[in-house]
Amino acid sequence: MTLSEMREVLRRHDLRLTKSLGQNFLHDGNQLRKIVAAAELTRGDSVLEIGPGLGPLTELLVEGAAKVLAIEKDARLIPLLRERLSKASSLELIEADALEWLRAAPRSWVGWKLVANLPYSVGSPILVELAQAKEPPDRLVVTLQWEVVRRIKAAPATEDYGLLTLLIQLRYEAIDWFRIPASCFFPPPDIDSACLILRRRTRPLLEASLESRFEKVVRRAISQRRKQMFKLLREDWTVDALQAGFQAADIRPDTRAESVSLEQFAILTKSLTKSIAL
Ligand code: SAM
Repeated sequence: MTLSEMREVLRRHDLRLTKSLGQNFLHDGNQLRKIVAAAELTRGDSVLEIGPGLGPLTELLVEGAAKVLAIEKDARLIPLLRERLSKASSLELIEADALEWLRAAPRSWVGWKLVANLPYSVGSPILVELAQAKEPPDRLVVTLQWEVVRRIKAAPATEDYGLLTLLIQLRYEAIDWFRIPASCFFPPPDIDSACLILRRRTRPLLEASLESRFEKVVRRAISQRRKQMFKLLREDWTVDALQAGFQAADIRPDTRAESVSLEQFAILTKSLTKSIAL
């Protein structure tokens, strides 16, 4: 879908874009093809797209996947999408707030890939929701604000490393990313964007039953960046349990959470589960 086609569709339907819904539509054919290539679609894949908008990505996805489930919140766009993609029998289109929909109907996402130019206002919560699903998607190919991409793929001891990094990286590895210039969107957003490719870890760092404990530990440890995490974790754990856990994970007691690796947090979580939270 070219920029002039996009303008024409909007004009014909007398549609004004809504900033609060993050309606910056991607019209650059090269970037759209790069996103689809990053998804590495096979004929058997099912794809979840959140926020199809006018459908520039959707029309490429339906060509490569067995099934595309697209969830769009803006009711005005649904008839437009139905008309444009009327021949795509593999497409299921749902009008809903994707975050509410995901929370209301937990399901298995095994065999699914998320491929989406996410609405910026809810991009991070949607990603966390899917990454923490009981059976999360195999791959996430997501276009987001550059600042959020940096936070997800951050390494320890950097400014961007934090809760979002740890919650997503527990189950996913960031395998690649590329910048998408603002000029590729209509209207161009004020902020930079990038597409991030996340692959589900084949070997989980923690067994599923320990993941909620991991989240409790990292949320507490990272709650005040300037404080030593040992002191923060004393809110929930005994000094003895923490000393054993810090030793097992090779973390010094005066360390701040921002320099503790994901693997160290995983070891600490395993050790702390052996003890009883206060
Ligand atoms: N995929 C299209 C593209 O690449 O041009 C549109 C992407 S645009 C950044 C985000 C889309 O998400 C918009 O169509 C917007 O209406 C929709 N949207 C915003 N919030 C949503 C939500 N909570 N659930 C589902 N769709 C949402």
